[in-house]
Amino acid sequence: MDVEAYCMKCKATRKMNDAQEVTMENGRRAAKGICPVCGTKMTKFLPSDKSKDAASTAPKAASTPAKATSTTSKATSSKSKAASK
Ligand SMILES: [Zn+2]
Repeated sequence: MDVEAYCMKCKATRKMNDAQEVTMENGRRAAKGICPVCGTKMTKFLPSDKSKDAASTAPKAASTPAKATSTTSKATSSKSKAASK
């Protein structure tokens, strides 16, 4: 796998060694490798449209259980009629 990435240390674009395709936590794909010159780890983000759109970019829906606060919802309507002056 030939991937060119920018090496921060060399300040140049290198063809990374030992390039491996990885998937980030957010579903994006990237290539990780090592700079052949200085040995710095390199990461290059790959365009997501290269392959099929399998990685849905939908935000992770936090599945919190619906807290139904049904109690203490009875309106205190007993006092509304008293003050009629
Ligand atoms: Zn380098």
